[in-house]
Amino acid sequence: MSERYFVDEPITAERVTLSGPESHHLIHVMRAAPGVRVTLFDGGGDEFPAVVERVGRSEVELSVVSRERIDRELPCDLTLGVALPKGDRQKWLVEKAVELGVTRIVPLVTRRSVAQPVDQALVRLRRAVVEASKQCGRNRLMQIDPPSDWPDFVAAAPAEAYRLLAHPGASEGLSDVFCGEKEGNPPFAVYLAIGPEGGVAEEEVALALAAGWRTVDLGPRILRVETAALLLAGIIAQMYLYSSRSL
Ligand code: SAH
Repeated sequence: MSERYFVDEPITAERVTLSGPESHHLIHVMRAAPGVRVTLFDGGGDEFPAVVERVGRSEVELSVVSRERIDRELPCDLTLGVALPKGDRQKWLVEKAVELGVTRIVPLVTRRSVAQPVDQALVRLRRAVVEASKQCGRNRLMQIDPPSDWPDFVAAAPAEAYRLLAHPGASEGLSDVFCGEKEGNPPFAVYLAIGPEGGVAEEEVALALAAGWRTVDLGPRILRVETAALLLAGIIAQMYLYSSRSL
């Protein structure tokens, strides 16, 4: 895979001008010169082999060679609702979720969550999405939604989706959920919910159960928020990718 660069608007013309952090990387880190071949993507699902034409002080002009539809998405729409941890762990979780193919992250505001990211932090996390997509070859950007209150998130998940809340001590595990499934196509949409370090309050669990969510236990050890989120997302991703019959 040649070096990938993100263009922050739909690529429709044969010439593209890169600016901002992307051109900075190309000029100062890669020392790009005319003739160098790179791959561009605009988050819309395609990628574009391109050639550097002109290197300016802070901008790079490229000509687009072709448009190729290269789909590296999951065969399901995977929403990860998570009470985000703080600082570096938050960025790490976002980066790994991009690699695993998560469609969107919804920061959850629950009774016991620490403050969820404000606008400036969301901008930084969206930049982390771009970086991870460049590295892993994803041509669609994982979405990071504004923070959502628990009742809104629970209610937003459609009844036909898989709706799973990770909850220590739940009476079911993931294999119970999957083995109980009937033949046929699994639902396209999957909603996962991971609570904060303080856990999901009993009345919040009750609200989810009343709306038709299922709780799943992930084993006898208490996992950090990001471990639980990535474990669950990773298993779901693999089940959808490689399961020959329905889940
Ligand atoms: N003290 C809390 C633990 C919170 S861990 C409690 O007992 O509930 C943070 C979140 O990660 C939890 O809300 C849950 O969504 C998930 N999690 C961590 N370990 C888990 C496990 N063993 N099984 C299911 N979910 C788990």
